[in-house]
Amino acid sequence: MSARVLVVDDNPANVKLLEARLSAEYFDVLCASSGPEALEILSHNTVDIVLLDVMMPGMDGFEVCRRIKADPQMMHIPVIMVTALDQISDRVAGLKAGADDFLTKPVNDLALIARVKSLVRVKMMLDELRSRAHTSEQMGLDSSALFQRLMHHEGGQILLVDDSRSNSERIRKQVAGQFDLFLENDITAALRRCSDQAFDCLLINLDMQTGDPLRLCAQVRSIESSRLVPILILAQEADQKRIMRAFDLGVDDYVCQPVDKNELLARLHTQVLRKRYTDALRDSIQHTMELAIMDGLTQLYNRRYMTSHLNALLSSAREKQKPLSVLLMDIDFFKSVNDTHGHDAGDEVLQEFSQRMRKNTRGIDLVCRYGGEEFVVIMPDTDHSLATVVAERIRKKVFEKPFIIHKGRQMIDVTVSIGLASSCKGLETQDELLKRADQALYQAKHDGRNRVVVAQVCAA
Ligand code: GH3
Ligand code: MG
Ligand code: MG
Repeated sequence: MSARVLVVDDNPANVKLLEARLSAEYFDVLCASSGPEALEILSHNTVDIVLLDVMMPGMDGFEVCRRIKADPQMMHIPVIMVTALDQISDRVAGLKAGADDFLTKPVNDLALIARVKSLVRVKMMLDELRSRAHTSEQMGLDSSALFQRLMHHEGGQILLVDDSRSNSERIRKQVAGQFDLFLENDITAALRRCSDQAFDCLLINLDMQTGDPLRLCAQVRSIESSRLVPILILAQEADQKRIMRAFDLGVDDYVCQPVDKNELLARLHTQVLRKRYTDALRDSIQHTMELAIMDGLTQLYNRRYMTSHLNALLSSAREKQKPLSVLLMDIDFFKSVNDTHGHDAGDEVLQEFSQRMRKNTRGIDLVCRYGGEEFVVIMPDTDHSLATVVAERIRKKVFEKPFIIHKGRQMIDVTVSIGLASSCKGLETQDELLKRADQALYQAKHDGRNRVVVAQVCAA
């Protein structure tokens, strides 16, 4: 992860120190010695995260943070405020200014790297989402749904795993009103629970006495349903070794005991947000995949998908020595539906036609829109006589019952012509098979439409 960090501090010694530590972790580091210089750098460079000193002469860290968070070009860049030790009031002011996280001076190595990595992961996810939304918009698609759910990122369901009653009671009070907190005091029960329920974050106390919390972290990461849920641990500052071990096991962040309310809320917030981004990204991948293979009007597979999948089906037929049949259909005189009743009515006919085809084919048949008013059904394990029965059934289902158009205000008769070609053992190429189906379809049109013509059974 080669992310770029901007370090802002008026003290050159502090800058040097942070630069050295971050460079050792292969971060690319930029430095600024004042607020205005930082803003100048941010406006001309891509930066993934800002480490911002609070106390600076002239413009202080809070003001710099406020300006970053108010600028649409920079507001998505995470800001970590570096405050003097134990300045709770600084934290509150930082949160109000829009800071994403805090570090206290002198900066602890582990905390520095953990926090920077965690926020850089959030940033990268957000960058990816922004770029996808941009591409979708360029393709004329609406990406608002994607961001809609990200806007509503208040709250979140947290599972606290802790066997100390007093500690869990304190945490419950601290997050009250901000997150929905669920409690488990037993490690086995907790594991079962997070494979059943989708939590936005797990909060695990590393000081549990009744089981091994590190084992729980490892198990949560190994179960498919909970693999991506963020884990935040509660730990003693002195317990650095086990905290390191927890990070190796895939824990995302930690909070030191005794827990400071603002810090806990800020860390939970960051983790929940990251979970939401991951979910949105995954949904958008799913959505993009659907767009790539489905036809928007009919929700059938599109031609591109059909042609790529037909090859696989043919080679499987060849391997298993099984037949495969293809129906190529074309709605009769469809142009006159458009001309007489309008293009929208034509669309309604295409949708209803697709419904009828889907109802009269099996789940393993591949039904696709080949283009315009042409459709293809590919039927694995189906010889020409069985395919003829299916084709006849579809033809009847189309002409038997009129199609409803203009949202129910009118009915029209529709017929379809069908060309059928079968391959006995999948020995033909895709083009040869489709060509025979096309010739049969042409014959069906020529012979008067509303009929099925079976191509000559090929020797292959
Ligand atoms: P034939 O019986 O010989 O097949 O005659 P036809 O009128 O169905 O054939 P032709 O290929 O001349 O016309 C097909 C029409 O389908 C022309 C085109 O405008 C229309 N069409 C193609 N795609 C769509 C669509 O998505 N929606 C609508 N409403 N019409 C479409
Ligand atoms: Mg046509
Ligand atoms: Mg037609």
